[in-house]
Amino acid sequence: MQSSTPKQPDNTIRVSLIDVQRAIESEAIVPCFQPIVELRTGRLAGLEVLARWEHPEHGLVLPQNFIPIAEENGLIGQLTHQILTKAFFSTALLPEPLFLAVNISPIQLHYLSLPRQIRDAAEDYGFPLKQLTVEITESALVNNLERARKIAIELREMGCQLALDDFGTGYSSLRHLRALPFSKLKIDRSFVESLPYERESRKIVAAVVGLGHSLDMMTVAEGVETEEQADMLLRLGCQFGQGWLFGRPLPAEYIPDMMVAEPRIPSARFSAPAISTAAFGLDAMPAQRLAQLEAIYDGAPMGLCFLDKNFRYISLNRRLAEMNGAPVEAHLGRTVDEVIPTVFPIIEPYLHRALNGEAIPKVEAPKPANNPDYADRRILLSYQPVFDEAREVIGISVAVVDLTEL
Ligand code: C2E
Ligand code: CA
Ligand code: CA
Repeated sequence: MQSSTPKQPDNTIRVSLIDVQRAIESEAIVPCFQPIVELRTGRLAGLEVLARWEHPEHGLVLPQNFIPIAEENGLIGQLTHQILTKAFFSTALLPEPLFLAVNISPIQLHYLSLPRQIRDAAEDYGFPLKQLTVEITESALVNNLERARKIAIELREMGCQLALDDFGTGYSSLRHLRALPFSKLKIDRSFVESLPYERESRKIVAAVVGLGHSLDMMTVAEGVETEEQADMLLRLGCQFGQGWLFGRPLPAEYIPDMMVAEPRIPSARFSAPAISTAAFGLDAMPAQRLAQLEAIYDGAPMGLCFLDKNFRYISLNRRLAEMNGAPVEAHLGRTVDEVIPTVFPIIEPYLHRALNGEAIPKVEAPKPANNPDYADRRILLSYQPVFDEAREVIGISVAVVDLTEL
């Protein structure tokens, strides 16, 4: 583990253009690396490169203090080149499937030479482009969509992935999502921050994650600081998280530590509570009542689960987890098809009917064993649509009884 963590920067520093020019000339601005992890397993998935300036007087200076100055004074190209080459140098041997994510300034999306510059820098240090994600903010696309599109397509052709950064803060996101070949959506920190106490944020995150799923994009939540946030994000179906909970941005010498760090599975998820408070809107319940409800859910003589509209497990009790032969946490955020692929085709038509608002009690079905050592079983299933306040179906509750045992 890390022996000492570098001091975190002060973010209220005033620097001059001359200062920034000197910093670029002396290559004092360097990349730091922040882990991006898979929420379900806590495993490292990638690293985001974030620029840091080691200032002789002020200590570590944050990008907000120098990136805008570099952008306004025609220095951003040179600065990006320095950061990228240093980052590629430090991560040339990044094992697959880990990825490196880099930030590109909106201004740079005006230059059709950008893809070539990135390719040249990567090739110089032997960094594989298919492990590179280029992060673009929405503001980069406003008034500049055609050129940005050309650049984006070229980056994709080179093998890079594209991420839409700060998603949800711009004003015409959906148009941009369609126009450019993004494969990742980064959910802005502001939504993550308010997740535990604002129902609206949960709805927005759920909608963004749903959008990501239906457009075949991965979703990455930014600014995850607490286990509660990570837990909620997982239950809302978000795949990746980034934030202080998993690690702060650190210099290149810490990358080996990040790669061998124990996967961080927040304690709440380890003993995954059976009831998802977020999904059921139970967050305002007194803890005692919630605990009672959880005990009933867990002690029920049948398997119970709540699936979202994409048939992902939002919550389930231990009985069902046992029936499916996998721990509770191996279900959360995954689809029925992923967890029990042999059973899914049998129950899929009923799931669709339930999504259309139909309650379907007691349907008997064969349950082919996942493992050839086990015999097939027979199960009895009931499907119940779950409605929100506006009587819209938000998911399905499924109850399962194993008839073989009875
Ligand atoms: P961003 O791309 O949205 O980067 C995420 C920001 O959130 C980073 O701020 C990161 O340090 C911060 N962050 C990460 N986890 C947490 C958390 O749990 N809580 C909180 N409160 N913050 C967290 P940072 O490093 O100050 O960078 C700010 C912005 O500057 C970045 O936002 C990005 O737009 C820009 N930037 C950073 N490095 C570069 C670069 O090399 N080139 C360009 N063009 N822009 C850069
Ligand atoms: Ca970013
Ligand atoms: Ca961001």
